[in-house]
Amino acid sequence: MTNAQEIFMNGEFIPSERGVISVRTHGFAYGTGCFEGIRGYWNEEDQQVYLFRLREHYERLLRSCKILQIDLPYTLEQLVEISAELVRRNNQREDVYLRPVAYKGSQVIGVRLHDLQDDFILTSEPMGNYVEISGLRCGVSSWRRIDDNAIPARAKVCGAYVNSAFAKSEAAQNGFDEAIMLTNEGHVSEGSAENIFLLINGELVTPAPSENILLGITRDTIMKLAQRELGYVTRERQIDRTELYTADEIFLCGTGAQIAPVVSVDHRPVGDGKVGQLGKKLQELYFDVVRGKHADYKDWCTPVYAE
Ligand code: PMP
Repeated sequence: MTNAQEIFMNGEFIPSERGVISVRTHGFAYGTGCFEGIRGYWNEEDQQVYLFRLREHYERLLRSCKILQIDLPYTLEQLVEISAELVRRNNQREDVYLRPVAYKGSQVIGVRLHDLQDDFILTSEPMGNYVEISGLRCGVSSWRRIDDNAIPARAKVCGAYVNSAFAKSEAAQNGFDEAIMLTNEGHVSEGSAENIFLLINGELVTPAPSENILLGITRDTIMKLAQRELGYVTRERQIDRTELYTADEIFLCGTGAQIAPVVSVDHRPVGDGKVGQLGKKLQELYFDVVRGKHADYKDWCTPVYAE
C-alpha cells in the first residue's frame, strides 16, 4: 500500500503535510463547501488505475458549486486532468478514493455565501470497502432527510453531512450497519451516503429525484446496467416505508458503498433474509465495469497512466 504524498491545493501540487487550513476558515465553521467522492480501481492485467465516471462526478461538483455560489477557477477538463495527475504523482497503483472539496476559504466571521473567497483542494488515498457488501442490516432512522428548501440534497454540501452523521451513528449505536432515512413526508429517501433500490414484484424501483436524494452516479450506473444488461427498467417513484418490509430485494449503492445488498430492515428479513439474486448479479457486473473489464463501458473509465 502506498500512502499519498501529495495533494492539490489552490492551484498547486504540494506535500500532504503542507495541506492545512486556518481554524478561521468559513467552510470549516459553517459547512459552506461541497465535495465529491470518486473511486479509482486498479486493474492488474492492464497495470492501470481507472477513475470511474470522473467527468460525471465533476459535473455534479460544478452543479453543487453553482447552488453554493462557489466559482471554481477550473474547467471540467482541467479538473479531470488534475485528478489523473495527482494519482500519477503519488504513483498509486491500487484502489484509490479521490476527494475534491470546493469551499468558502475566507477567514471571516459572518454566515453567508456571497462575497467570500472560493478555495479548492483534492486528495487521493487508498480505499477498500466503505460498508459491508455481503449483507447489510439496516434500520429506518428517526432522523429525517434534509429538505430541498433547507439544505438541497442534490448538492453534495459539506454541512449536509451532519444529517447523515446523525442517522449513521443512531443506526450503528442501535446495532445496525446502516440507516435508511425518510423524507419529512415519511417516504423512503436514501441511506446516510447511499441511494437505495428495491425489487418489488419483479420491478426495480428507486426514490424519485424529488425525494430529497443525492442524484447518485452509482444510481445512474445501476439504472443503465440493469436496463442494458438485465432488461430491468427502473421506476423512479415515491416509496412508502412499509414497502421496505415487503420488498423482495433491497440494495444500497454509492461510490463508497458500491453495491451493498440489504438483508434486513428494522430486524425484518428482506425476502428470505439472504442476499438477493438481482443484487448479486448487479454487484458482479458493477465490479467488472468499474475495473475496466467490460468493453462496452470502457468510456466510463478514465485511465491514469499512459496506455
Ligand atoms: N446519497 C448520499 C447522501 C451520498 O453521500 C452518496 C455518496 N456520494 C450517494 C447517495 C451515492 O452517490 P454516488 O453514487 O454518486 O457516490
